[in-house]
Amino acid sequence: MVTTVAFDADQTLLDTRRAIEAATLELCAQVARQYPGSPALEVADLHADAVAAWEAMPERDVRTVRSIALARSLGRVGLGHAHGELSEYYFAARQRLTHPYADAVSALSQLGERFVLGYATNGNSRAELCGLAGRFAFELYAHERGLAPKPAPEFYAAVLAAAGVVTGPEQVVYVGDSWSHDVVPARAAGLRTVWVNRGGSTVPDPGVADAVVVSLADLPAAVRSLAA
Ligand SMILES: [Mg+2]
Repeated sequence: MVTTVAFDADQTLLDTRRAIEAATLELCAQVARQYPGSPALEVADLHADAVAAWEAMPERDVRTVRSIALARSLGRVGLGHAHGELSEYYFAARQRLTHPYADAVSALSQLGERFVLGYATNGNSRAELCGLAGRFAFELYAHERGLAPKPAPEFYAAVLAAAGVVTGPEQVVYVGDSWSHDVVPARAAGLRTVWVNRGGSTVPDPGVADAVVVSLADLPAAVRSLAA
């Protein structure tokens, strides 16, 4: 019996990519306003520094990685001394500009009538700051209180513990957009899985996900069919 539906956050419920692009532009504008004498902060450099930081430290938490990348970008334009203040500006903008996808809120409302809902992310998008306050019975953030990030089995064990599973892991459905971080390890931990395939990519291995949806509008029906 399915009792619980737990969600990945970024690019599943939240359009984080768009928020990062918008927050990056806001940071560049803020630097131009606040430090008119310094060289312009370039979007391309911010992007390149973020990619390089991720490649150098994929195991670190996203805030740390972004902070290190911002330090590098600000150093390029002689603003390393303003890193603390400007990184706080960026992180505040990033949270404020992160919104649920248009199809997310309705799906959560429908599913919330019948199932316990959970939020379990590797990222730092706080549900309450991103338009999803009060939606979830539990929220898990990797790297907080020692929680290992996905795809670690410990992450999914924590999801099951937070869900209070009684009969077994199959009573939890995990919904996410990442095949390698959401679908494959959740299934390995015994959960049911739904792959959110917004881009309509080819399903890597048809036997692994219990359901595939291209929109969260299709999610309530997909979960109901798993729960039947
Ligand atoms: Mg994701």
